[in-house]
Amino acid sequence: MIATSFLEISAKAYRQNIKYIRSEIGEKPTISAVVKGNAYGHGIEQMVGIAEKAGIRHFSAFSSDEAWLVKKHSTKNSEIMILGMLYEEEMEDLIRAGINFYVFDFYRLEKAISISKRIKIPAKIHIEVETGFHRTGFDWEDKEKLVQVLKEAKEHVILEGLCTHYAGAESVSNFVRVKNQISVYYEFKNYLSENYLFFNRYHTACSAATLIFPETIMDMVRIGIAGYGFWPTKETYFAKLKDLPSNNKNPLKRLITWKSSVMSLKKVEMGEFVGYGNSFMALHDMQLAIVPVGYGHGYSRLLSNSGQVLIGGQFCQVVGTVTMNAIAVDITKVSGVQTGDEVVMIGKQGKKEITVASFSESTQQVNYELLTRLPKDIPRKVIP
Ligand SMILES: *Cc1c(COP(=O)(O)O)cnc(C)c1O
Repeated sequence: MIATSFLEISAKAYRQNIKYIRSEIGEKPTISAVVKGNAYGHGIEQMVGIAEKAGIRHFSAFSSDEAWLVKKHSTKNSEIMILGMLYEEEMEDLIRAGINFYVFDFYRLEKAISISKRIKIPAKIHIEVETGFHRTGFDWEDKEKLVQVLKEAKEHVILEGLCTHYAGAESVSNFVRVKNQISVYYEFKNYLSENYLFFNRYHTACSAATLIFPETIMDMVRIGIAGYGFWPTKETYFAKLKDLPSNNKNPLKRLITWKSSVMSLKKVEMGEFVGYGNSFMALHDMQLAIVPVGYGHGYSRLLSNSGQVLIGGQFCQVVGTVTMNAIAVDITKVSGVQTGDEVVMIGKQGKKEITVASFSESTQQVNYELLTRLPKDIPRKVIP
């Protein structure tokens, strides 16, 4: 079977991004490569190898299924950490496999302790504390009980990490909120230290925090979007821009390229409607190319009449609605297009480039969402 579109993932771009992040954080802190959402659409299978070759030995997954997939593809015995979901029934297997996981409430903590006791293998846990994100994490009121439970369980669990997540580190306007979260985190840290509870790694920073709030860096940073070559937001980039050397104003490189090919050509006369409904009427005679990529492949319906692709080195607009499996694009001004010609949805063709960002801006989707919507079954090829 041949797919209707292909993804290329650049290992070189990843190496450059890691190099840049390393230059920002210094030699010491561990970089955990966040591979949730199928590695932000890039493919866990492909990214584990790429990241390990770039020196990464720590991965963050959202759920246990992703963690197992990382384990399956890891050849360097990297550490694996689950930030979110796991089922009770799986905990024993995860502990036996040495997979780290977040613990953000007493329910999970007590489960982890009782299983560890029973199987006599310590669970590697990361205690998440609530500092203002208000999703998961132990509350300040929980602190006495937390100390008590952790002390009693000292022989049975390994305190791998003390962590939290920032709400809005991608915007400088959240400065006060982030500062406040940092200070709440330190209150927890100090309280736990005073009670002789110490953790192997203190970690709080995602990409945006790492880049614009350096005081959040600590022992480990959890890098998602920046590893894949995107600034968390435009604002993060602008905040950083003045510090970047003039010969390298964009140190983050996109890994992903998304390509398809022309399935068919079609002439449309002035006054005819294109596709379902009447959202697009040809205002002049037109030449269209039909491309076999639709919302079923992750090409959002919001790109109807607004998305662009590259054909023959030129920007070509999507006309009519994006359907489940195809789009029509206007190639009237591009000469010599033939069936089978390359179509680029994301990436470069000739001198022109479509970045995911511009794509998303036109649909108000952020990079994160577009990337993670790329289906798992689109073939992904790693380019060294
Ligand atoms: C997703 C996530 C990250 C990575 O965020 P980026 O903005 O993509 O770097 C870090 N930590 C946690 C807990 C996350 O859920």
